[in-house]
Amino acid sequence: MPSQRALGIAVIGTGKMGADHVRRLQHVISGARVTAVVDIDENRAKTLADASEGCTAYTEAAAAMAAQDVDAVLIASPGPAHEAALLDALGCDLPVLCEKPLTPDAASALRVLEAEQKLGHRRVQVGFMRRYDTEYIKLKRLLDSGELGRALMLHHRHRNLSMPPWFTNEMLINDSVVHEMDVTRWLLGQEITAVTVHKPAPTSHAPTGMDDPQFVLFETEFGALADVEIFGHCGYGYQVHAEAVCERGTVRIGDEPGPRLSADGRWGGRITPDYIERFDDAYDREVQAWVDATRRGEVTGPGVWDGYAAAAVCEAGVLSQREGRRVQVELTERPALYR
Ligand code: NAD
Repeated sequence: MPSQRALGIAVIGTGKMGADHVRRLQHVISGARVTAVVDIDENRAKTLADASEGCTAYTEAAAAMAAQDVDAVLIASPGPAHEAALLDALGCDLPVLCEKPLTPDAASALRVLEAEQKLGHRRVQVGFMRRYDTEYIKLKRLLDSGELGRALMLHHRHRNLSMPPWFTNEMLINDSVVHEMDVTRWLLGQEITAVTVHKPAPTSHAPTGMDDPQFVLFETEFGALADVEIFGHCGYGYQVHAEAVCERGTVRIGDEPGPRLSADGRWGGRITPDYIERFDDAYDREVQAWVDATRRGEVTGPGVWDGYAAAAVCEAGVLSQREGRRVQVELTERPALYR
């Protein structure tokens, strides 16, 4: 692992997230540079590579991973493509930052878990970037300090202006609520043991076939409850709130940080349009932390166990969504590598 020269990163998948991570790595992050971009859309990869000095375009992830100037991999292809890229990277013993979800289902996540265990050391960080958001960090510190006593309940709200036309009912769980699955496990330090999905009468703005919004209830191993309002087409902006109800008080994050404007007999502020803007700082901190840890030869962020646990909760969530009943989460025993 190079400690002096900048880490050479291959970014796999150069769509909305991948292109934003390329920009971040080239212009915001220190200690790394993008040496390869990979996309099955050759033109997209070439356009990005042509705009970045010393960067080569590939259409095959394995070819980029074999290149001399690639020291680590950032996976930002769609979830179903993650398993193959992760197994290739682990086969080359390369450090990875994999956008969430680790993989789209528990069986494939388990295969990645097994591959990393076979390697014998952790190599993969999963892109659960809310763990790097300043407000979530403050909430986590407060809960861990014990100042408010034990956390009894979490209320999460996750609202989107609108969803792309190809977004499905299942993706509301697998791609959106997966963030609340991870932060619930992280904030409480508990596994989620059961999921129930409720569906109110949908908004008239939801596309045909999508139940939107949905209300998701998590039960956890030591008896806390967490609920999530997931709303794909709220129509006014991107909002993420969380409130912890504890024995000696409550704490809430995500209220718009300002600036708060007073004019014309009204007060108010602006709501961010999407996650790219709302979590911009968190993505920066996440990627910088990954680069720094990788240069030290460490993995410090959420790992494959967290990705697997979230995938298992997603699977239970999608079943509950489909069958309208409470579904228990099936988790394998946590291996020593992740304790
Ligand atoms: P996107 O559709 O905009 O881009 C995906 C890109 O990957 C496309 O350019 C596509 O051609 C390419 N691609 C597809 N299969 C590939 C393969 N096998 N190898 C290489 N490239 C391939 O998608 P996106 O919105 O950028 O999402 C990418 C990932 O980021 C997903 O895992 C998604 O869940 C995640 N994501 C994370 C957040 C977050 O807040 N952390 C937000 C949005 C998306």
